[in-house]
Amino acid sequence: MYDIIVIGGGPAGLTAATYARRAGKTALVIEKAAFGGQITWSPKVENFPTIISISGTELGDRLLEQAMEQGAEVELEEVTAVETDGDVKRVCCDSGAEYEAKAIIIATGAKPRMLGLEREEELVGSGVGFCAVCDGAFYKGRDVAVNGGGNSALQDAMLLSETCRKVYLIHRRSSFRGEEKLVKALEAKDNVEFILDSTVEELLGDTELRGIAVRHPGGRREISLDGLFVAVGHEPDNGIFSDFMELDAAGYAASGEDCRTKTPGVFVAGDCRRKAVRQLTTACADGSVAALAACSYIDAI
Ligand code: NAP
Repeated sequence: MYDIIVIGGGPAGLTAATYARRAGKTALVIEKAAFGGQITWSPKVENFPTIISISGTELGDRLLEQAMEQGAEVELEEVTAVETDGDVKRVCCDSGAEYEAKAIIIATGAKPRMLGLEREEELVGSGVGFCAVCDGAFYKGRDVAVNGGGNSALQDAMLLSETCRKVYLIHRRSSFRGEEKLVKALEAKDNVEFILDSTVEELLGDTELRGIAVRHPGGRREISLDGLFVAVGHEPDNGIFSDFMELDAAGYAASGEDCRTKTPGVFVAGDCRRKAVRQLTTACADGSVAALAACSYIDAI
């Protein structure tokens, strides 16, 4: 049995494991997709203290290396259920494996939000994507659009502008939510066109995306495209934990400042938690707070 099982291997989860190990507790991190979490989708991270500039993948690799160096164990598995009654928590995975721990930290982050358009799901991988870092290279020399107004959309547009022929940046408002510095850098690019006050209303093409229709105040505009990157934020994926964690209307987990949930021995950290600021720095902060709270809980039982 482990002292602490962390569900989710992003910045919050890996930081939690590092802190748990440094407090002398055994720790297992279970991740379903790729260690590093959402940050691995960021081409460049320039706002993490002490690091001037680093790619998201390298940052994710370093977080994993640091947790493992401290002695954390890691498993790539999808968690399907968690039993939280009593002092021993049981984590069940789709492989049939089951793991036990005295405390659980849920750090499952958030998944990309979709636009909710007809055939959007069908076209994922056939022109519609969510990760420019992962798929951008397929669109070298071609025309693409990015939809969204946050830092993810701005960063995606910047990355794609380096290799694509044309990048349309479509946002539903007249100004962006993301950093001004990135907006200015995009404005200076010859192959980037902003389409503001506009929403994507239709995906064109049958089995492959061949364009989009955009609704703007003056009417409808059809644009031929090879790829559309949807970067309209994220939403939590806490459904399987709803029996023992209080979720708000948007699905985020309620917790105190100390990352405790309503269930003794269950803690929550990172973007899946209800909070005001979802940043890499706050994810790591949550990981450390949740781990130390979990250690105190274990010492008291
Ligand atoms: P975000 O900041 O929540 O921005 C989402 C954008 O999508 C907003 O502009 C929003 O418009 C728009 N949007 C939401 N739903 C939409 C819909 N149905 N149709 C059209 N547009 C829609 O999300 P994010 O860019 O993924 O960033 C998430 C967090 O990670 C942010 O705090 C961001 O700063 C951070 N981040 C950091 C880095 C980094 O540090 N390197 C990189 C990427 C992201 P409105 O503005 O109208 O709400």
